Amino acid sequence: MTQVVPSFYQSVSDYFDKAARHLDLPAGLLQQIKVCNAVYQINFPVKIKGEVRVIEAYRVQHSHHRTPTKGGIRYSNHVNQEEVMALATLMSYKCAIVDVPFGGAKGGVKINPWEFEEEELERITRRYTTELIRRNFIGPSIDVPAPDYGTGAREMAWIYDTYRTFKGDEIDSAGCVTGKPVNQNGIRGRDEATGRGVFYGLREACDIAEDMKKLGLTRGIAGKTMVVQGLGNVGAHSARIAQDEGGAILVGVSEVEGAIYKADGIDVHELLKYRKETGSIQGFPGAQFYDKKDRRSVLEFECDILIPAALESQITGENAGRIKAKIIAEAANGPTTFEAEAILNKAGKLVIPDVYLNAGGVTVSYFEWLKNLSHMRFGRMDKRFNQQNYNNLVDLVAQYTGREITEEQRRLIARGAEEVDLVRSGLEETMVSSYLQIREVKMQKKEIEDLRTAAFVSAISKISNDYQNMGIFP
Ligand code: GLU
Repeated sequence: MTQVVPSFYQSVSDYFDKAARHLDLPAGLLQQIKVCNAVYQINFPVKIKGEVRVIEAYRVQHSHHRTPTKGGIRYSNHVNQEEVMALATLMSYKCAIVDVPFGGAKGGVKINPWEFEEEELERITRRYTTELIRRNFIGPSIDVPAPDYGTGAREMAWIYDTYRTFKGDEIDSAGCVTGKPVNQNGIRGRDEATGRGVFYGLREACDIAEDMKKLGLTRGIAGKTMVVQGLGNVGAHSARIAQDEGGAILVGVSEVEGAIYKADGIDVHELLKYRKETGSIQGFPGAQFYDKKDRRSVLEFECDILIPAALESQITGENAGRIKAKIIAEAANGPTTFEAEAILNKAGKLVIPDVYLNAGGVTVSYFEWLKNLSHMRFGRMDKRFNQQNYNNLVDLVAQYTGREITEEQRRLIARGAEEVDLVRSGLEETMVSSYLQIREVKMQKKEIEDLRTAAFVSAISKISNDYQNMGIFP
C-alpha cells in the first residue's frame, strides 16, 4: 500500500499550530505570522536549442515584519507553489531564531538544472531576474535572493549582473543578492557556511552531557558515527567539518546514484575525490553499495547521528519507526514530516530542527549583505592594528620571562583576523547562542517536549514583538 505523505506546506503549518498553542497571542496576529504575504508566479518564455520553452517560476515573500525579505532560489523539477511557500515560511522563522533582521522569502524555478547547458541556464536566470525587477521583487532593501538547491555562486553572479544592468546607479546594488563569488562582492566563507553552521549546532548539542545521557550517548561529537543523505554543498561541508574539526566518523552516505555503508569509517576527502573522478560513490573501496532504488535506506543505517542534507519529506510516517540514529540533524529544509517527528519524539530521539540548524547560510548571507552596504571588507580597519598590539604583547612576555618565542608561536598569537576568521567567529557565536536560546525555551516551558516546538515558539514570539512594536496589533 502506498502511503500518502502530507504536503510539505501542511507539515510546516502543523508545526506552527503546535507551537502557537504554547503562546497566548491573538488569533489575528498568529494568522498574520503564519500566512505568506505575497506570492508571485511567473511563466516566461526562453529559447532553448531553437525551441521556445515556457518556464514556470515563483518568488514568495512570506513576511514583511522586517525588510528586506531573504531566502534562496531553488532550481528543481519538483518546484511548485506550495513548496516555495513552505520554504519561504521556514526562512522567516529561521531568521528570527538566529536574530538575522530579515523577513523570509524563497524563489523557485521549475527546471532540472542538470539538463541544461551553462549558457541556457544563464538565459533562464537573467530572464527570471528581469521578471523580479519588473515586479519590484528584488533589491537590497526589498528582497535579497541567495543560493539554494540547484543554484550556487555562478547563478548569483548572473543575478547581480542583471540587476546592475537595470539599476547600476543604485549605490548599494551589490546587496541585491548574496552568495556571490568572492571576487564579485561576495564574502569569504559563504560557500561552506550552512555546513559549518550544521557542525557548530551539532557540536553544541553533543556538548550538553545531560541531553546526551538521556540518549544513552557520551558527551562530545568526537567518535560519534554519522550518516549523511546528500553530498551537495550542505552535506559535503557538514560531513567534512564534522570529521576534520569535530572528530566524527562518517559511516554512510547517499547520493542520486545509490548509497554506501562502511562501519569503520569513510574519509570524506577521499570519497569526494573518488566521486569527482568516477562520477559516482559506487565502488568506493571497502564500502557496501546499495542500489539507486534502495538509496533511501541510508536513513535507516546504524549510526549515532543522521544528517538529512537533501530535500524535504524524506523521513515520513512510513520509515520514521525504523530510524536507528539517536540524533537527527536537519541540514536540509523540511526533511521530517509532522507525522514522522511525532514518532521520533516518542522514540526519545533528539531532532535538531532545520529552522535552527541550517541557519548558517542565511547568517553569513547577512554578513555579506552588511559588507555590501558598508562597501568594505571585514577586517580591513583593524587587522594590522591588532597584529601590532599582539606583537607588542609577545615582545613584552619574552622580555619579562627571558624566554625565546619561536616564529611559529608568534604566528599563532600575533595575528590580526582576516575576513574569513571573522565570518567563522560570527557564525559560531550565532549558532552557539541560538542553540542555548531555544534549549532555554524548552527547559522553561515543561509542556514543550521537543526542540522544534521550542524554536518555533521562539520565532513566533520574536516576530509578534515586531508586529506589536509597529502598533498594528494590540
Ligand atoms: N537557501 C538557504 C536557506 O535555505 C540560504 C538563504 C539565504 O542565504 O538567504 O537557508
